[in-house]
Amino acid sequence: MNIFVLKEINDNRIPLSSEIIKSYISLKSDVLIQKDAGFNSFQSDEDFIKAGGKISDLNELVNSEITLCVDMPDEVIISKLKNESVLIGILKPVQNKNLISLINDKKITSFSLEYLPRTTRAQIMDVLSSQANIAGYKAVLMAANHLPSYFPMLTTAAGSIPPSKVLIIGAGVAGLQAIATARRLGAVVEVFDTRSAVEEEVKSLGAKFIKVEGAKEDKEAGGYAIAQSEDFLKKQTEMIHNHSLKSDVIITTAQIPNQNAPLLIFKDTVNQMKKGSVIIDLAASTGGNCELTINNETVNHNGVTIIGNSNLASLLPKDSSKLLAKNYFNFVKLFLNDGLINLNFDDEIISASCITHNGQILKNL
Ligand code: NAD
Repeated sequence: MNIFVLKEINDNRIPLSSEIIKSYISLKSDVLIQKDAGFNSFQSDEDFIKAGGKISDLNELVNSEITLCVDMPDEVIISKLKNESVLIGILKPVQNKNLISLINDKKITSFSLEYLPRTTRAQIMDVLSSQANIAGYKAVLMAANHLPSYFPMLTTAAGSIPPSKVLIIGAGVAGLQAIATARRLGAVVEVFDTRSAVEEEVKSLGAKFIKVEGAKEDKEAGGYAIAQSEDFLKKQTEMIHNHSLKSDVIITTAQIPNQNAPLLIFKDTVNQMKKGSVIIDLAASTGGNCELTINNETVNHNGVTIIGNSNLASLLPKDSSKLLAKNYFNFVKLFLNDGLINLNFDDEIISASCITHNGQILKNL
C-alpha cells in the first residue's frame, strides 16, 4: 500500500509531518513524498527519509493507492493518478467542478475534508477547526504589524498610551482564537455574534459581548449560524458601524455555511473610521464581511488598511502542516488497516466527506 503526498503549488502547507510517517508505517503502508514537498513548511526530504518515508516523483502516482494533498491537484497531476485510487484533500469541489469530473472519470474515490461533520468524533480530523484556529491567531499578529499604534496600554515617563480597541465579528473557531490572542497582547476586545451560545465563551476570554436583539438561531444547524432577516442585519450593521468608529482593529470572521458571507461593514463606515486602523477580513473567500474587501489583496481606503487574505494558515506552514498531518492521518485510519482499504459508507464521516466514488459524483455541486 503506497500513500503519496503531493507537493503543493499554491500553498505552503502539506498534510504530512515526520512524526506522522511512522504512524502510517504502522498501518502497513509506505509513505512516498514528492521531492521538496516539505520545503515551504520547513521540512526537508532528509527529515522524511530519516522518519521512514521515501522521496519520490509524480511517476509513482500510478502505483499509489492513496494520494494526499491540500489544494485540488491540476489536470496534469489528475491524469497521473491511479484509476480507482483514493484522493484526500481540501478540494473545494464547488469551485473545481471540471476537475472533479476528471477525477470521477478515473473512478477515483475523492474525499474533501472541509465536508466532515462537526461532531465530537470528527473533531480529531477537523481541518476547518485546526486551520481556523491558526488563522485567528495570525490575523491578530498581522493587524498588530500594520497598526501604527501599540496594542497594550503603556505608562511611560513620556506619557501614557491607551490600549488599542479590537472589534471581532464572529466568535467561531477563528474568532475565539483572535479574541484570546488580542487579549494576550493587551487590547480591549469587543465581539459580535448571532449565536447566543458563544456569549459565555467570549466573556470567559475577557472580551465584551455585544448583543443585538432578535437574532435567528436554529438548533438543527449543527452549531452553525443561519442567515438573518434584513431587519436584523440593518440593526446589526448600525451597531457595528458605531463600534467600528471607535475601533483600531476589526477582525471579521462571520460565515454562513454554503452561502456568501454576510456584508456587515460598508464603505460609509470605513470612510468614517480612524485613519491608520486595520480590517482583517477572514471571510474574504466567500465575498467578505466588508464591502471593500478584495480576496487575497491588501487595499488602503482613506487611510484604513483592509486585508482580504483568506488563507492565513498557510503563513504559519510549520505548525499548520503538523496539525493537518494529524487530521489527515486520523481520517485515513478510519478505513486503512493492515495495508487494506475498507470504506464503510454507513459511517457519516466517510459519507459526508466523499465527493466521488465508483464513477459517481455524490454531491450536488
Ligand atoms: P464559521 O466559520 O461558520 O462562522 C464564524 C462565526 O461567524 C460563527 O460563530 C457564526 O455564528 C458567526 N456569524 C455568522 N453570521 C454572523 C453575523 N451576521 N454577525 C456576527 N457573527 C456571525 O464558524 P466555525 O468557526 O466553523 O464554527 C461553527 C460552529 O461549529 C460553532 O458552533 C463551533 O463551536 C462548532 N464546531 C464544532 C466542532 C466539532 O464539534 N467538531 C468543531 C468546530 C466547530
